[in-house]
Amino acid sequence: MGNPTANSSDTEHTAKHTAELTRVHTFCRICEPSCGLVAHVEDGRLVKLSPDRDHAVTAGFSCHKGLAAVDVHRDPDRLDHPQLRAPDGAWRDVSWDEAMAETARRWRAVVAAHGEHATAAYVGNPMAFNALGSLHVSQLLRSLGVRRSFSSGTQDCANKFVASEAVFGSSNVHPIPDLEHTDLCVVIGENPRASQASFYSIPNVLGEMRRAAARGARFVFVNPRRIETPEQGIGDTLLIRPDTDVWFLAALLHEIDALGGFCEELVLRHGRHLAELRRFLEPYDADSVAEVTGIEPATIRELAQAWVATPRASVHASTGINMGRQGTLAYWLVHMLSFVTGRLDVEGGNLKSDGFYPNARSGAGVPEQGYVETEFGRLRRGALPGTLMSHAILDSDQPIRAMIVVAGNPLLSIAGQDRLRKAFEQLELLVVIDIYPSATAELAHVVLPSTDMYERDDLNIVNIGTSARPFAQYTPAVVEPAADRKPEWWIAHRLLQELGLPSILDDAEPDPWAKWRHMLAKGSGIDLDDLQQGAAEGRPHLLPTPAPGSFFDAQVHTPDGLVDCRPPAFDAAIERCHRLFDETRAELADGRLRLIHRRDAWMHNTWFANVERMKRGGRTTNPVSMHPDDAATLGLAAGEDVVVTSDHGEVATVVELDDRLMRGVVSMVHGWGHAASPRLRVAHRDPGANPNQLLPVGEGSFEPLSSQAHMTGIPVRVRATVTPVATS
Ligand code: SF4
Repeated sequence: MGNPTANSSDTEHTAKHTAELTRVHTFCRICEPSCGLVAHVEDGRLVKLSPDRDHAVTAGFSCHKGLAAVDVHRDPDRLDHPQLRAPDGAWRDVSWDEAMAETARRWRAVVAAHGEHATAAYVGNPMAFNALGSLHVSQLLRSLGVRRSFSSGTQDCANKFVASEAVFGSSNVHPIPDLEHTDLCVVIGENPRASQASFYSIPNVLGEMRRAAARGARFVFVNPRRIETPEQGIGDTLLIRPDTDVWFLAALLHEIDALGGFCEELVLRHGRHLAELRRFLEPYDADSVAEVTGIEPATIRELAQAWVATPRASVHASTGINMGRQGTLAYWLVHMLSFVTGRLDVEGGNLKSDGFYPNARSGAGVPEQGYVETEFGRLRRGALPGTLMSHAILDSDQPIRAMIVVAGNPLLSIAGQDRLRKAFEQLELLVVIDIYPSATAELAHVVLPSTDMYERDDLNIVNIGTSARPFAQYTPAVVEPAADRKPEWWIAHRLLQELGLPSILDDAEPDPWAKWRHMLAKGSGIDLDDLQQGAAEGRPHLLPTPAPGSFFDAQVHTPDGLVDCRPPAFDAAIERCHRLFDETRAELADGRLRLIHRRDAWMHNTWFANVERMKRGGRTTNPVSMHPDDAATLGLAAGEDVVVTSDHGEVATVVELDDRLMRGVVSMVHGWGHAASPRLRVAHRDPGANPNQLLPVGEGSFEPLSSQAHMTGIPVRVRATVTPVATS
């Protein structure tokens, strides 16, 4: 079944070997580039990770997050054994047999009494980086008949799938900038220094941008915070008020159209509804959006002129737009900026990558069929809004009573922690499959310890369809799983077995790779056995790089094969967009600041919360950052204790001054708030404030088109914790 492990006596799967140390080629599974790494294994223990300088694609690049994953692997606070929680809250280590029997007993009881509608699951972001886990956990949930599913996707990217489905007929079509040839690249809502890039896999994206800038390419980053790119020799930031990207993009398109920058002939040939797009853009010229976006009309007009004058222009948008109230519409306009101006499928513009297989077909869908009526109104099929999870447990006619959480920590990563806690406490069964005793795991009945990325064999599945230099690479598990940890695929099938359902563990020789073996062969003629052989030398299978010329034939899957410039499925969203514009303008003078969620180089979701080296340099709190002038206006100083309040909650933290922020904007980093994680000693010692406490939940907390949570541009006030009493 292809699960080789490496230790000091295993020379077959290693490139270099000494009596003391084995070096195993592997790759990182924290973010999308899947950087090649070398795992240094001593006496069967992973002791260090280093960049793989011989890797054919990533060529020795890695970031410190990737290398710090060795600390996650060695963390003494990891889960080592299945555990059951006693009524008094005490945890008891048990065997896998006992844990599975208890899980199955409770699951059967819920289904027998309330039906499958009472079951649900939450799947976290690490599953997107886990070839076998994602495949077999999906099979588990299907086999169990789980009716309601939630995922981390509605916290950071659900809008992108909906927009691409509506425009291109496939949720999997996300054309990426051709950085090697582009002369102008507009990057919206992303800080590549903090988090590389998202929905765009390229190793060392900053290095690539630096190279492009050095040959004269212009980069325009659109953000509420002036990011660190000038210091890197790349472009500067166009400051924008948070959650106003859709109107900035509309105005940019409006001005480009006024300059004659739309390619009418191309759009007539490959698209439809151009007149309807123009009707939407009509009210949003550079002057009309200036007040709301905070961008001078002349700046938008200059960018429009530059775009029209630059045939090799590209665009990329990331979580900054996703987390707004209108991420789907904003991403639709990103696609339009590329398509209607003739910058899609051309050298230096935006190109579609295929990866292991042409994935556009597998994402084909019709937006009108993508919704379902529920007790909470009309919702997008698939992952339900995370911000409705507590409602589906506490307020539903048919409440969720049993839930499986895999590789996620929804208690901290979704808004409304107090409400979610109450909801989880009401469940008759909460099973958490994780590497850590997370805050969510603390509320579980059963906790099942999974392997980390260096204890399992894997395939770099995450870059399918968004990679600038696609490759397929297999990695063995570089060390044996510690203690009783098991890979998610095994846990899924062990539970199926316990419930008397078909399980590959009943096979004489279980092969968890069977489906991937088939998909690789069918999709790109790759033989998994060859990949596994190549793994010994860290040799990835190189796939064709994206090239212009076939997009409109191969990637567009709308019923008539045309790109939809103004999908009818957006009717209600567009009415809402016009209404929100008026509301946003009216609220400009409400005296409140606007909160954005920021990523930084020291946290990745909640992954590094318990890693001591990420706390060095005083990074032991999650301050609220604000512009020095805003702090002065409020009479606040750096390091001062403050309370941040919104309409939805409050958090206590300290002030940090950041003159890169736009005036009127404050920011906090996602991934903190570990006071509820007593068994994570470092995280619990330095819990930090969780900005998700300030976000809305329930009705109105998510974008209706996509279920994406509203997480940026949240109105807040900041005040000193103790207001000094005036004395005469
Ligand atoms: S850039 Fe991403 S994939 Fe590469 S080492 Fe860093 S975290 Fe890992």
